[in-house]
Amino acid sequence: MMKLTYYEFDEEKLVREARKGKKVALKLPEGFMPHAESILHFLHQHGMDVTLLAESCYGACDFVTHDGIDRILCIGEAEMPYLRKIYRPPVSFIEVRYEFDERLLEKVLPHLSEKKVGLAGIAPFIHAISKCKIFLEERGYEVFIGKRSRRGAYDGQVLGCDFSPASSIAHLVDTFLFIGDGTFHPIGLHMATGKPVVIFNPLERSVGGSDIPALADRIMRQRYAAIARAGDAERFGILVTEKIGQRRMQLAKKLKREVEKKGKRAYLIMVNNITEAVDYLDFDCFVSTACPRVAIDDTLRYKKPVLTPVELEILLGEREWTQYVFDQIF
Ligand code: SF4
Repeated sequence: MMKLTYYEFDEEKLVREARKGKKVALKLPEGFMPHAESILHFLHQHGMDVTLLAESCYGACDFVTHDGIDRILCIGEAEMPYLRKIYRPPVSFIEVRYEFDERLLEKVLPHLSEKKVGLAGIAPFIHAISKCKIFLEERGYEVFIGKRSRRGAYDGQVLGCDFSPASSIAHLVDTFLFIGDGTFHPIGLHMATGKPVVIFNPLERSVGGSDIPALADRIMRQRYAAIARAGDAERFGILVTEKIGQRRMQLAKKLKREVEKKGKRAYLIMVNNITEAVDYLDFDCFVSTACPRVAIDDTLRYKKPVLTPVELEILLGEREWTQYVFDQIF
Protein backbone atom coordinates (compact mmCIF):
# COMPACT_ATOMS: atom_id res chain seq x y z
CA MET A 1 0.00 0.00 0.00
CA MET A 2 1.27 3.48 -0.85
CA LYS A 3 0.47 6.29 1.58
CA LEU A 4 -0.83 9.71 0.54
CA THR A 5 -0.80 11.68 3.78
CA TYR A 6 -3.64 9.95 5.70
CA TYR A 7 -4.85 7.76 2.88
CA GLU A 8 -3.55 4.61 1.28
CA PHE A 9 -4.04 2.87 -2.02
CA ASP A 10 -3.05 -0.37 -3.68
CA GLU A 11 0.14 0.41 -5.59
CA GLU A 12 0.22 -3.04 -7.20
CA LYS A 13 -3.18 -2.35 -8.72
CA LEU A 14 -1.86 0.99 -9.97
CA VAL A 15 1.00 -0.74 -11.80
CA ARG A 16 -1.29 -3.46 -13.15
CA GLU A 17 -3.77 -0.92 -14.48
CA ALA A 18 -1.05 1.32 -15.93
CA ARG A 19 0.21 -1.64 -17.98
CA LYS A 20 -3.15 -1.84 -19.74
CA GLY A 21 -2.37 1.29 -21.77
CA LYS A 22 0.38 2.53 -24.05
CA LYS A 23 -0.22 6.26 -23.67
CA VAL A 24 -1.29 6.59 -20.09
CA ALA A 25 -2.22 9.68 -18.10
CA LEU A 26 -2.63 10.22 -14.38
CA LYS A 27 -5.50 12.24 -12.89
CA LEU A 28 -5.75 13.23 -9.24
CA PRO A 29 -8.15 15.19 -7.04
CA GLU A 30 -6.71 18.52 -5.94
CA GLY A 31 -5.80 17.24 -2.48
CA PHE A 32 -3.46 14.62 -3.94
CA MET A 33 -1.75 16.91 -6.45
CA PRO A 34 1.15 17.54 -4.04
CA HIS A 35 1.98 13.83 -4.50
CA ALA A 36 1.84 13.90 -8.31
CA GLU A 37 5.57 13.77 -9.02
CA SER A 38 6.16 10.98 -6.50
CA ILE A 39 3.48 8.85 -8.15
CA LEU A 40 4.81 9.59 -11.66
CA HIS A 41 8.31 8.68 -10.46
CA PHE A 42 7.01 5.46 -8.89
CA LEU A 43 5.45 4.49 -12.23
CA HIS A 44 8.65 5.50 -14.04
CA GLN A 45 10.60 3.14 -11.82
CA HIS A 46 8.25 0.42 -12.99
CA GLY A 47 9.07 1.20 -16.59
CA MET A 48 6.18 3.52 -17.46
CA ASP A 49 6.27 7.14 -18.47
CA VAL A 50 2.93 8.61 -17.58
CA THR A 51 1.57 12.11 -18.29
CA LEU A 52 -0.12 14.16 -15.59
CA LEU A 53 -3.53 15.63 -16.43
CA ALA A 54 -3.57 18.92 -14.55
CA GLU A 55 -7.32 19.45 -14.74
CA SER A 56 -10.23 19.38 -12.36
CA CYS A 57 -11.06 16.08 -10.69
CA TYR A 58 -14.16 16.57 -8.58
CA GLY A 59 -15.46 13.06 -8.91
CA ALA A 60 -15.79 10.01 -11.12
CA CYS A 61 -18.16 12.18 -13.17
CA ASP A 62 -15.41 14.61 -14.12
CA PHE A 63 -13.91 13.13 -17.31
CA VAL A 64 -13.70 14.44 -20.85
CA THR A 65 -12.10 12.80 -23.88
CA HIS A 66 -8.40 13.27 -24.57
CA ASP A 67 -6.72 12.68 -27.91
CA GLY A 68 -3.48 10.75 -27.76
CA ILE A 69 -4.21 9.07 -24.42
CA ASP A 70 -5.48 5.50 -24.31
CA ARG A 71 -5.98 5.07 -20.55
CA ILE A 72 -6.42 7.34 -17.56
CA LEU A 73 -5.38 6.28 -14.08
CA CYS A 74 -7.47 8.08 -11.48
CA ILE A 75 -6.32 7.78 -7.90
CA GLY A 76 -8.76 8.85 -5.22
CA GLU A 77 -12.22 8.53 -6.74
CA ALA A 78 -14.61 5.58 -6.66
CA GLU A 79 -15.91 4.58 -10.08
CA MET A 80 -19.44 5.39 -11.24
CA PRO A 81 -20.43 1.88 -12.32
CA TYR A 82 -22.94 2.98 -14.98
CA LEU A 83 -20.20 4.81 -16.85
CA ARG A 84 -17.71 1.90 -16.78
CA LYS A 85 -18.03 1.09 -20.48
CA ILE A 86 -18.52 4.67 -21.56
CA TYR A 87 -15.42 6.46 -20.26
CA ARG A 88 -13.29 7.56 -23.25
CA PRO A 89 -10.47 6.86 -22.93
CA PRO A 90 -11.09 4.06 -20.41
CA VAL A 91 -10.39 5.01 -16.81
CA SER A 92 -8.84 2.79 -14.13
CA PHE A 93 -10.03 3.93 -10.73
CA ILE A 94 -7.60 3.31 -7.90
CA GLU A 95 -9.53 4.06 -4.74
CA VAL A 96 -7.91 5.41 -1.63
CA ARG A 97 -9.02 4.41 1.83
CA TYR A 98 -8.81 5.95 5.20
CA GLU A 99 -8.63 3.17 7.76
CA PHE A 100 -10.16 3.80 11.16
CA ASP A 101 -11.24 1.76 14.12
CA GLU A 102 -15.04 1.47 14.26
CA ARG A 103 -14.83 1.48 18.07
CA LEU A 104 -14.33 5.25 17.71
CA LEU A 105 -18.09 5.33 17.13
CA GLU A 106 -18.45 4.97 20.89
CA LYS A 107 -18.29 8.78 20.86
CA VAL A 108 -21.36 8.95 18.64
CA LEU A 109 -23.66 6.92 20.88
CA PRO A 110 -24.70 9.77 23.22
CA HIS A 111 -25.90 11.63 20.10
CA LEU A 112 -28.02 8.74 18.81
CA SER A 113 -30.93 8.84 21.21
CA GLU A 114 -33.31 6.96 18.91
CA LYS A 115 -32.77 3.39 17.90
CA LYS A 116 -33.42 3.30 14.15
CA VAL A 117 -30.36 4.59 12.40
CA GLY A 118 -29.60 5.02 8.70
CA LEU A 119 -25.94 4.87 7.73
CA ALA A 120 -24.51 6.92 4.87
CA GLY A 121 -21.02 7.93 3.92
CA ILE A 122 -18.59 9.02 1.25
CA ALA A 123 -15.34 7.72 -0.17
CA PRO A 124 -12.68 7.24 1.25
CA PHE A 125 -14.51 6.09 4.39
CA ILE A 126 -17.45 4.22 2.90
CA HIS A 127 -15.64 0.86 2.76
CA ALA A 128 -15.97 0.76 6.58
CA ILE A 129 -19.77 1.07 6.59
CA SER A 130 -20.44 -2.63 7.25
CA LYS A 131 -18.23 -2.77 10.31
CA CYS A 132 -19.87 0.44 11.58
CA LYS A 133 -23.27 -1.24 11.14
CA ILE A 134 -22.17 -4.27 13.17
CA PHE A 135 -20.75 -2.03 15.89
CA LEU A 136 -24.08 -0.20 16.26
CA GLU A 137 -26.18 -3.37 16.07
CA GLU A 138 -24.16 -4.89 18.89
CA ARG A 139 -25.20 -1.88 20.97
CA GLY A 140 -28.90 -2.36 20.35
CA TYR A 141 -29.52 -0.15 17.30
CA GLU A 142 -31.52 -1.16 14.28
CA VAL A 143 -29.33 -0.09 11.39
CA PHE A 144 -30.28 0.44 7.75
CA ILE A 145 -28.04 0.99 4.74
CA GLY A 146 -29.61 1.95 1.41
CA LYS A 147 -28.68 0.09 -1.77
CA ARG A 148 -26.13 1.81 -3.93
CA SER A 149 -27.42 3.94 -6.79
CA ARG A 150 -26.16 3.50 -10.34
CA ARG A 151 -23.77 6.42 -9.72
CA GLY A 152 -22.35 4.96 -6.51
CA ALA A 153 -19.85 2.16 -6.05
CA TYR A 154 -21.03 1.19 -2.54
CA ASP A 155 -24.23 0.64 -0.62
CA GLY A 156 -24.86 3.68 1.57
CA GLN A 157 -22.62 5.92 -0.55
CA VAL A 158 -24.06 9.38 -1.11
CA LEU A 159 -22.79 11.91 -3.61
CA GLY A 160 -23.33 15.66 -3.70
CA CYS A 161 -25.62 14.97 -6.66
CA ASP A 162 -27.25 11.73 -5.53
CA PHE A 163 -28.70 11.05 -2.10
CA SER A 164 -30.99 8.25 -3.30
CA PRO A 165 -29.35 5.47 -1.21
CA ALA A 166 -30.34 7.49 1.88
CA SER A 167 -33.73 8.69 0.59
CA SER A 168 -34.70 5.07 -0.14
CA ILE A 169 -34.48 4.14 3.58
CA ALA A 170 -35.51 7.48 5.11
CA HIS A 171 -38.99 6.18 6.00
CA LEU A 172 -37.41 3.42 8.12
CA VAL A 173 -35.07 5.51 10.27
CA ASP A 174 -35.18 8.21 12.95
CA THR A 175 -31.70 9.61 12.35
CA PHE A 176 -28.89 9.33 9.83
CA LEU A 177 -25.31 8.79 10.88
CA PHE A 178 -23.02 10.22 8.23
CA ILE A 179 -19.44 8.92 8.05
CA GLY A 180 -17.19 11.45 6.37
CA ASP A 181 -15.77 14.95 6.40
CA GLY A 182 -17.18 18.32 5.33
CA THR A 183 -20.70 19.66 5.71
CA PHE A 184 -22.02 19.69 2.12
CA HIS A 185 -23.06 16.03 2.11
CA PRO A 186 -24.70 16.09 5.57
CA ILE A 187 -26.65 19.22 4.58
CA GLY A 188 -27.81 17.53 1.37
CA LEU A 189 -28.63 14.38 3.32
CA HIS A 190 -30.74 16.38 5.75
CA MET A 191 -32.51 18.26 2.95
CA ALA A 192 -33.14 15.14 0.87
CA THR A 193 -34.48 13.02 3.74
CA GLY A 194 -35.84 15.57 6.25
CA LYS A 195 -34.11 13.59 9.02
CA PRO A 196 -31.64 14.75 11.65
CA VAL A 197 -28.03 13.96 10.73
CA VAL A 198 -25.23 13.11 13.14
CA ILE A 199 -21.76 13.37 11.62
CA PHE A 200 -18.81 11.20 12.52
CA ASN A 201 -15.62 12.57 10.98
CA PRO A 202 -13.00 9.80 11.08
CA LEU A 203 -10.15 12.19 10.19
CA GLU A 204 -10.77 14.43 13.19
CA ARG A 205 -12.37 11.66 15.25
CA SER A 206 -15.08 14.19 15.98
CA VAL A 207 -18.86 14.12 16.24
CA GLY A 208 -21.04 16.94 14.87
CA GLY A 209 -24.24 17.70 13.08
CA SER A 210 -26.12 19.95 15.49
CA ASP A 211 -25.51 22.93 13.17
CA ILE A 212 -26.78 21.17 10.03
CA PRO A 213 -30.38 22.53 10.16
CA ALA A 214 -29.03 26.09 10.53
CA LEU A 215 -26.58 25.60 7.64
CA ALA A 216 -29.35 24.14 5.49
CA ASP A 217 -31.48 27.17 6.35
CA ARG A 218 -28.71 29.52 5.29
CA ILE A 219 -28.40 27.74 1.94
CA MET A 220 -32.17 27.97 1.46
CA ARG A 221 -32.06 31.71 2.11
CA GLN A 222 -29.24 32.09 -0.44
CA ARG A 223 -31.20 30.07 -2.99
CA TYR A 224 -34.31 32.15 -2.42
CA ALA A 225 -32.25 35.30 -2.92
CA ALA A 226 -30.70 33.92 -6.14
CA ILE A 227 -34.15 33.13 -7.57
CA ALA A 228 -35.39 36.61 -6.54
CA ARG A 229 -32.37 38.24 -8.24
CA ALA A 230 -33.27 36.40 -11.44
CA GLY A 231 -36.81 37.77 -11.28
CA ASP A 232 -36.32 40.34 -14.08
CA ALA A 233 -34.02 38.22 -16.24
CA GLU A 234 -34.81 38.18 -19.96
CA ARG A 235 -31.65 36.53 -21.35
CA PHE A 236 -30.87 33.07 -20.01
CA GLY A 237 -27.66 31.07 -20.53
CA ILE A 238 -28.18 27.34 -20.03
CA LEU A 239 -24.81 25.88 -19.01
CA VAL A 240 -23.99 22.39 -20.33
CA THR A 241 -20.82 20.46 -19.75
CA GLU A 242 -19.10 17.69 -21.70
CA LYS A 243 -18.00 15.98 -18.48
CA ILE A 244 -19.25 12.45 -18.87
CA GLY A 245 -21.13 12.12 -15.58
CA GLN A 246 -22.51 15.66 -15.53
CA ARG A 247 -23.65 16.03 -19.12
CA ARG A 248 -27.41 16.66 -19.26
CA MET A 249 -27.99 17.91 -22.78
CA GLN A 250 -31.62 16.74 -23.00
CA LEU A 251 -32.45 18.57 -19.79
CA ALA A 252 -30.66 21.69 -21.05
CA LYS A 253 -32.70 21.68 -24.27
CA LYS A 254 -35.91 21.21 -22.30
CA LEU A 255 -35.06 24.16 -20.02
CA LYS A 256 -34.29 26.30 -23.06
CA ARG A 257 -37.75 25.53 -24.48
CA GLU A 258 -39.42 26.30 -21.15
CA VAL A 259 -37.73 29.71 -20.92
CA GLU A 260 -38.70 30.48 -24.52
CA LYS A 261 -42.32 29.52 -23.84
CA LYS A 262 -42.40 32.40 -21.36
CA GLY A 263 -41.35 34.80 -24.12
CA LYS A 264 -37.75 35.15 -22.89
CA ARG A 265 -34.48 34.37 -24.67
CA ALA A 266 -32.35 31.31 -23.90
CA TYR A 267 -29.18 29.83 -25.39
CA LEU A 268 -27.06 26.80 -24.56
CA ILE A 269 -23.50 27.47 -23.40
CA MET A 270 -20.98 24.61 -23.50
CA VAL A 271 -18.52 25.07 -20.66
CA ASN A 272 -16.52 22.51 -18.72
CA ASN A 273 -15.26 24.61 -15.86
CA ILE A 274 -17.83 27.10 -14.69
CA THR A 275 -16.12 30.09 -13.10
CA GLU A 276 -16.71 33.79 -12.41
CA ALA A 277 -15.91 34.30 -16.12
CA VAL A 278 -19.62 33.73 -16.84
CA ASP A 279 -20.27 37.16 -15.31
CA TYR A 280 -18.64 38.75 -18.38
CA LEU A 281 -21.18 37.22 -20.74
CA ASP A 282 -24.15 39.43 -21.60
CA PHE A 283 -26.78 37.14 -20.12
CA ASP A 284 -28.91 38.10 -17.11
CA CYS A 285 -29.10 34.67 -15.51
CA PHE A 286 -27.52 31.25 -15.88
CA VAL A 287 -28.94 27.81 -15.24
CA SER A 288 -26.41 25.07 -14.59
CA THR A 289 -27.18 21.57 -15.79
CA ALA A 290 -23.67 20.45 -14.75
CA CYS A 291 -22.69 19.38 -11.22
CA PRO A 292 -25.46 20.52 -8.83
CA ARG A 293 -22.79 21.85 -6.48
CA VAL A 294 -21.78 24.55 -8.98
CA ALA A 295 -24.81 26.71 -8.20
CA ILE A 296 -25.00 25.92 -4.49
CA ASP A 297 -21.38 25.82 -3.26
CA ASP A 298 -20.04 28.65 -5.35
CA THR A 299 -23.01 30.98 -5.20
CA LEU A 300 -21.03 33.86 -3.69
CA ARG A 301 -18.47 33.71 -6.52
CA TYR A 302 -20.91 34.88 -9.18
CA LYS A 303 -22.37 38.36 -9.53
CA LYS A 304 -25.15 37.08 -11.76
CA PRO A 305 -27.60 34.47 -10.51
CA VAL A 306 -26.69 30.87 -11.33
CA LEU A 307 -29.71 28.64 -10.75
CA THR A 308 -30.28 24.91 -10.67
CA PRO A 309 -32.91 23.42 -13.01
CA VAL A 310 -35.33 23.07 -10.07
CA GLU A 311 -34.85 26.76 -9.23
CA LEU A 312 -35.59 27.72 -12.83
CA GLU A 313 -38.92 25.87 -12.54
CA ILE A 314 -39.71 27.96 -9.45
CA LEU A 315 -38.70 31.16 -11.23
CA LEU A 316 -40.93 30.33 -14.19
CA GLY A 317 -43.85 29.53 -11.91
CA GLU A 318 -43.85 25.81 -12.75
CA ARG A 319 -43.12 24.75 -9.18
CA GLU A 320 -43.88 26.17 -5.74
CA TRP A 321 -41.06 27.34 -3.47
CA THR A 322 -42.45 24.94 -0.82
CA GLN A 323 -41.58 22.10 -3.21
CA TYR A 324 -37.93 23.11 -3.36
CA VAL A 325 -35.53 20.17 -3.63
CA PHE A 326 -31.80 19.92 -4.21
CA ASP A 327 -30.90 19.28 -7.82
CA GLN A 328 -29.73 15.68 -8.22
CA ILE A 329 -28.48 13.54 -11.11
CA PHE A 330 -29.80 9.98 -11.04
S1 SF4 B 1 -21.62 16.19 -6.79
FE1 SF4 B 1 -20.80 16.98 -8.69
S2 SF4 B 1 -18.62 16.44 -8.65
FE2 SF4 B 1 -19.67 15.20 -7.11
S3 SF4 B 1 -20.15 13.28 -8.19
FE3 SF4 B 1 -21.93 14.63 -8.36
S4 SF4 B 1 -21.70 15.71 -10.31
FE4 SF4 B 1 -19.73 14.83 -9.75
